[in-house]
Amino acid sequence: MNKETVMCRGQRFRLYLSEEQIQQRIQELGAQITNDYEGKKPILIGVLNGAFMFLADLIRAIDLDSEIDFIKLSSYGDAKVSSGRVHELKSIDAQIEGRHVIVVEDIVDTGLSMEFMMQRMNEYKPASVEVAVLLHKYEATQVDLDLKYVAFPVPNLFVIGYGLDYGQLARNLSQIYVLDE
Ligand code: 5GP
Repeated sequence: MNKETVMCRGQRFRLYLSEEQIQQRIQELGAQITNDYEGKKPILIGVLNGAFMFLADLIRAIDLDSEIDFIKLSSYGDAKVSSGRVHELKSIDAQIEGRHVIVVEDIVDTGLSMEFMMQRMNEYKPASVEVAVLLHKYEATQVDLDLKYVAFPVPNLFVIGYGLDYGQLARNLSQIYVLDE
């Protein structure tokens, strides 16, 4: 299944980050979070749909009592560029007042979704909020964000796989692929 190139919706994508690279980096982040949250019980809030795979691997790399919940935002639709409009499609169920929250996101692009997330989380009055993000498109980010745990800073590319979709497909790939233009 770990191919060098994949086709998705008639377009070719080439390997960008291998399963080994992803998994190794997640182990490092998990160890860092385990260390930073020693004695605490963090709650990881995954941003659906894209973060489900990253959250699943990240939480297994964290050696602490920890909880999960999910929120669902919308902004992209089926397009390859950010629309810049964010709204909440599913809210969290957990009580996070006074809790140590780690927002888990697949990718920060313009940063507008994450800015919206941080505002929402702060309304719940958690004890702390940090962000764990798999990919940060640092050149595209338009807002000031404090991203504590970034697995991979990436240039302005369109990527799929490992939870990230192209028109809802490609989420099942274990590796990350970039549009081969
Ligand atoms: P932002 O609000 O930061 O512009 O966008 C965040 C969301 O856009 C991500 O959660 C993700 O769903 C989507 N997104 C941004 N860049 C990419 C990309 O390169 N590939 C895919 N598949 N989704 C992306």
